[in-house]
Amino acid sequence: MAQRMLLLLGSAQPELSRALLEEMPLGQRDAQLMTLREQLFGTQIISVANCPNCGERLQITLDTRTLRVADHASPQPISFAHASYTVTYRLPNSADLLALTKVSAGSSQKNVAASRAFLLERCVQSVQADGVAQTLDELPPAVLDAIAAHMAEADPQADIQFALNCPVCGQHWLAAFDIATFLWSEIGAWARRIVRQVHLLASAYGWSQNDILNLSAARRQIYLELIGNG
Ligand SMILES: [Zn+2]
Repeated sequence: MAQRMLLLLGSAQPELSRALLEEMPLGQRDAQLMTLREQLFGTQIISVANCPNCGERLQITLDTRTLRVADHASPQPISFAHASYTVTYRLPNSADLLALTKVSAGSSQKNVAASRAFLLERCVQSVQADGVAQTLDELPPAVLDAIAAHMAEADPQADIQFALNCPVCGQHWLAAFDIATFLWSEIGAWARRIVRQVHLLASAYGWSQNDILNLSAARRQIYLELIGNG
């Protein structure tokens, strides 16, 4: 998925180099994906979620403009103190996700703890306790948790959540919205729709694929209606 998103953004914005795209913090990448989504399909998002309590299927309407975080995180190192520790790290980016995909490709099950350790290893640049340099292996779990929490807070655009209420059982919960997965499935559905239109119009009129794709979407729609597939 990380690779697909880099290809998508690279083709949408050829002026941005591959290296620049790979080094964008994930929240900044997601903001770019959100912009691309708005250009392709508009700001309204219609999705579904299942209630975790009773299983009711809810239809959700979101707007990309409300899913945006005002400030973009930067790829520059961030330092913070936790108890006697001083930590410097940078935010996870697409290059980290690509590296993670490579190491976890062999393992059949996704191991959340191992993935987190791998990302911390790549992103944490230095940790000192009372001025003495520490390795990640030496840190207590509470400090590792604090680093992971600080990373999440520093890049809120990378972890979008929204509140849902089930009208049937009254359950409240927070659902995650992942623009990468969502946009990829939308583009897949759009591609299937276009292929279907080409198939229908080519069958009805004998036109070539190129002729059909050169028609505007509005004209294609008129012809589809004429052959009873509008
Ligand atoms: Zn429910």
